[in-house]
Amino acid sequence: MVRYTNFLLKAVLSSIHQRTISLQHPDLVPVNPEPILGKSEQAFFPKAHPDQGVRPFLVAGPCSAETPERFETTLDGLAPLAPDLVRAGIWKPRTRPDRFEGVGAEGLVWVRELTQRRGLRLAVEVAQPSQVEQALLHGVDAVWLGARTTVNPFLVDEIGRVLAGTGMPVLLKNPINPDLELWLGAIERMERWGLTQLALVHRGFSPFEPSPYRNMPQWEIPIELRRRRPDLPMYCDPSHITGNAQLVPEFAQIALDLCYDGWMLEVHHSPSDAWSDAGQQLTPDQLRDTLGGMTFRFNDPENQELAAQLQELRAQVDRLDHDLLELMSQRLKLSHRLGTLKKEYDLPILQPKRWEQILETRHREGASMGLNLSFLNKWLQLMHQESIQRQLDMYRPDSSKTP
Ligand code: PEP
Ligand code: MN
Repeated sequence: MVRYTNFLLKAVLSSIHQRTISLQHPDLVPVNPEPILGKSEQAFFPKAHPDQGVRPFLVAGPCSAETPERFETTLDGLAPLAPDLVRAGIWKPRTRPDRFEGVGAEGLVWVRELTQRRGLRLAVEVAQPSQVEQALLHGVDAVWLGARTTVNPFLVDEIGRVLAGTGMPVLLKNPINPDLELWLGAIERMERWGLTQLALVHRGFSPFEPSPYRNMPQWEIPIELRRRRPDLPMYCDPSHITGNAQLVPEFAQIALDLCYDGWMLEVHHSPSDAWSDAGQQLTPDQLRDTLGGMTFRFNDPENQELAAQLQELRAQVDRLDHDLLELMSQRLKLSHRLGTLKKEYDLPILQPKRWEQILETRHREGASMGLNLSFLNKWLQLMHQESIQRQLDMYRPDSSKTP
């Protein structure tokens, strides 16, 4: 309780001082999920309001429960940090079949007992109806659906069917592919089975090309999902996004700065010996340091001077955006006129040399203006695609459209 009061006090003080503060105290971690505000009082998964004293939710624990002794050692390190929920993989969806696939149902007996003994809540991953039955039988507090399960509407439905009527809190990880609708579909399927204690876990998306992270964050997807479902808490899983324990603190902070409601973090007493995901798990000490190093940033509605500065800059952005739209519209009208000429003289629509020249000159100009190349490329591709599509439309026999 002392830790919680500390948190609250700091949060209130920070609002009073109206500035960004750093809560650099290792003991500022949740003791119990006791949200203190309004609706969240009933919620198993609260939405974070650090400036109002509701802490980010912490799910922490090993990737896999390995043996009772190993799990107990990890828990002993973890318990003083009082996670809101302990995670433990019992059935592991491994990419290759010759890897450790989890201890299976028998592990539920000891993960339940060892967490209960310490007054900790427990979540396990379920990927099949039979696993859900086992999880229910052993009285877990919550379950999560992994990225390889969310991706499959049949499985999501089957799992929902077994959970129906239990009121079980469910964490839904994003599907492995960057498909927002599929993620939304999993939420809606759970809701159709009457499961309303839901939270989302952003764990990144499988990369197509070699990438700096195990899974690409593609922050725009969870941001859009939160816009569509602002009622659902969104937690971030920096362990599976980065695949690298050294990067986890940085990503845990990014999650806070992007207003996530909590984290799911993999923690193991001896990560290098872990039987799965050895490279990305934190030790309990590293978790304590990570939490202690988090900077909580608060909006500051009282600061009039700041509000005026923001407003002025935003007005400039609005004007520039308007100009950009205007320019884009003019540019596409020119594409239309080019299309008319090409059609009249029976030229092919795609002009590879011209496209090559556009890329080359724009890259050079953009670089000299400090534009990020990958951003610029996306924009050029989009614009080119739209121009081509418009010209293709013009070439259709029934087309008499003007832009
Ligand atoms: C896990 O949480 O250990 C796991 C398998 O995660 P994901 O479904 O995100 O790959
Ligand atoms: Mn894992």
